[in-house]
Amino acid sequence: MPLPPPSDPVGQLYRELEAKIREYRPKDDLAPLERAYQFARERHEGQMRDSGEPYMVHPIMVARILAEMRLDVVGMETGLLHDVVEDTSVTVDEVRERFGEEVARCVDGVTKLSKLDFFSAEDRQAESFRKMLLAMVEDIRVIMVKLADRIHNMRTLGYLAPERRQRIARETIEIYAPIAHRLGMGKVRGELEDLAFQHLEPDAYKEIIASIESRRHSNEEFLEEILRTVEAELRREGIPARIEGRVKRPYSVFMKLRRQKITVDQVYDLMALRILTDSVKNCYAALGVIHNRWRPIPGRIKDFIAIPRPNLYQSLHTSVVGPQGQTFEVQIRTEEMHRIAEEGIAAHWKYKEGRKGPAADDNRIAWLRHLVEWQRDMQDPGEFMSTLKVDLYPEEAYTFTPKGKVIVLPREATPIDFAYAIHSDVGNTCVGAKVNGRIVPLRSQLRNGDIVEIMTQPGHQPSKDWLAFVRTSRARNKIKHVINASERLKAIEIGEKYLEKEARRLGVQLSRVARADLDRVAAGYGYSKTEDLYAALGYGRFSARQVLSKVAPDKVDEEPAEPLAPEVEPAAAGAPAGPGRHQDHDAVIKVRGMDDLLVYRAKCCNPIRGEAIVGYVTRGKGVAVHSRACPNVQNLMYDVERKIEVEWVRAVDDAFPVRIVVHTDDRPGMLNQLTGVLSDESTNIRSLEARSLTDQVGGVVEMTVDVRDKKQLEKLVSAMRRISGVRDVERLFNQT
Ligand code: MN
Repeated sequence: MPLPPPSDPVGQLYRELEAKIREYRPKDDLAPLERAYQFARERHEGQMRDSGEPYMVHPIMVARILAEMRLDVVGMETGLLHDVVEDTSVTVDEVRERFGEEVARCVDGVTKLSKLDFFSAEDRQAESFRKMLLAMVEDIRVIMVKLADRIHNMRTLGYLAPERRQRIARETIEIYAPIAHRLGMGKVRGELEDLAFQHLEPDAYKEIIASIESRRHSNEEFLEEILRTVEAELRREGIPARIEGRVKRPYSVFMKLRRQKITVDQVYDLMALRILTDSVKNCYAALGVIHNRWRPIPGRIKDFIAIPRPNLYQSLHTSVVGPQGQTFEVQIRTEEMHRIAEEGIAAHWKYKEGRKGPAADDNRIAWLRHLVEWQRDMQDPGEFMSTLKVDLYPEEAYTFTPKGKVIVLPREATPIDFAYAIHSDVGNTCVGAKVNGRIVPLRSQLRNGDIVEIMTQPGHQPSKDWLAFVRTSRARNKIKHVINASERLKAIEIGEKYLEKEARRLGVQLSRVARADLDRVAAGYGYSKTEDLYAALGYGRFSARQVLSKVAPDKVDEEPAEPLAPEVEPAAAGAPAGPGRHQDHDAVIKVRGMDDLLVYRAKCCNPIRGEAIVGYVTRGKGVAVHSRACPNVQNLMYDVERKIEVEWVRAVDDAFPVRIVVHTDDRPGMLNQLTGVLSDESTNIRSLEARSLTDQVGGVVEMTVDVRDKKQLEKLVSAMRRISGVRDVERLFNQT
């Protein structure tokens, strides 16, 4: 081919592009590319860039960036022609006639993308995104040309007026860099971010650059030393490796400063080491070598090999404390992983020739497809922005419905959270879940990219157990709401029956009591409806007798006639025991922050003063107070919502009955010694029963004694244990 005259720098540039392509496509026919170049040059003739260069320099440089990405000839033709439709009188049809359907479609796609306005009103903005994504899915080369276009424009951004500069830089960092990231194109992303950062935060950029520069010498020395050490250690272990030392990119340093709210002088790990080896096995082996040599910082080891990032990035990351106490980061990956990390989706072109684009099952494309489908029924444009920024917010998991709608959840969210995010009915009737086609437990944690299918059953109710593992407040609130509503219904039912039963017992004819009277009593308690009064009775907030004394004061006094024995929870629904017991003992316990709750000591464990206690709101009988050691507590606390803090009220001199069992040798005088201990401690004995064991040697003494507090009980028990012939002393709980 004829060389361009020395006076033609544009032609020179094109020949350089050809030479670049020849490096990796020695046999390709570049005639169509040359025709595209000639055509574009003709049409852009006379146009100038803001830099004062002929316009044609730009399309050639874009094609050159694409050549570095090793895109195919159609892609580079598109690069050369990408501005002809927008900036000249050429139509897409003309491009089609001259260069064929594929090139025309790609040029059309890029032209449409340039018209998108990402800073318009929110609804227009969403529409812009949708169009861009559609174009990307149509042919991924469109977005690659667009990214190359953006890189060149960013490299020459300094020639533009400040206002346009800001706008383009912002669009770059908010839209294009995240897209490059999602497509796994780490190198493109890095360059776009650093270029945009330079224009958006010029002062911060200068400061960081200066700081890196001022420490360059010592950093380089340090890196050199580390590098040699690592090289030697890896060689000794027989791990083949290529090691790169590098200083972090300005933008990633900047983000670190912002995240950790520190100044640039406080950033110690400006330096990083990258180890490239041949196999996954050697990646882990190299990690072992590093950790053996330097102390790893806990929580900073990240295994993206076992769990790749959604953009298929794979690498091991660790931060270690260096020889002089400086921390530095080490990334370890295979050469293949490195190529994918740097080039992302572009890596596919190099080895898979003759294809229109990446395979349909490529995860990155799957992501785009999901996004586009989701876009169709998307209401909130802001939500879409956050989806694009997917990996900038690692605390979130991006999951999909089987139809491709994106559901953004906090990390560690469960299928239940997912179900409630779709609709509260789906959550309420959820009975199972499939993740990526396989049935999983409802408590399992969802991960980025999971496709989740919820199985429902009409009429199913949410379980209280769910509250223990759901992550979103939406799910939590909905579950609580349903449970509270059904508990309230039960409480109303119980309360009403309880009132009727007490009325019968006390000879009040409830049927004769006007509804208005009950309403009045309810209002007296501060309730607007009689149902609320029933519910309060059901929850045990006060006794039926108290209510009846207000309804029929002539028949019922406020004081209960006789105490009712408290029952062990859970009570059978519909047969409530009255809470109207008198409160001589129980006044010593009180519910934190609530004085009007009925409190009683649970019969099963009868907690004594000073002992750790826990309250449980019963159905219709007030608050049962258990010893924390009570075996029933474990079973009762299935309903954490009904657990309540209780505490001992100070300074009341009273005693509680405690049941004690003493296992003894069967010998005379044992009983005397035991009662002797009790009288020494001036302990009142309520009952005492001794029996011999028939099938073995030994006896059992069971007693109920009055004990003031935990300390007294402990003293008693240890005194009993000291008696010779006593094998064991235990406190007895009434187990149900
Ligand atoms: Mn352009």
